[in-house]
Amino acid sequence: MKQVSTVCARDCYDTCSLKVTLGESEQILSIKGDPMNPITQGFTCSRGAKDHNRLYKNRVKDPFLRKGERFEKAIWEEGLDAVSQKLGETIEKYGPESVLHLNYAGNMGLLTTVFPKRLWNNIGAT
Ligand code: SF4
Repeated sequence: MKQVSTVCARDCYDTCSLKVTLGESEQILSIKGDPMNPITQGFTCSRGAKDHNRLYKNRVKDPFLRKGERFEKAIWEEGLDAVSQKLGETIEKYGPESVLHLNYAGNMGLLTTVFPKRLWNNIGAT
């Protein structure tokens, strides 16, 4: 086992510092708040502390492309190309404002609020 220092990826305003314990094959065994952070002082919410329980199951790890009535597993380049192609076709046919950027309202730290907007602003999306 080993322990690594990191931060929660959710980008809440407090950005909790974490101590993550890894097992033999680097799987996460536990997540605890890091008491050395002067702001969060060892705090982690119950969602952050249980992230590893959701990490290894029910995850979509590959893109899937619709082939008729079915979805078939693809490689990332194919998946990204398909999204890029559809987005380009939509913009060309209906204009950039036909693309609607839906922003979520969960954890809204600086990174998650601003970072994706660069792409959508550049495209001219609604
Ligand atoms: S409050 Fe929870 S979700 Fe937010 S940064 Fe801390 S551990 Fe992550």
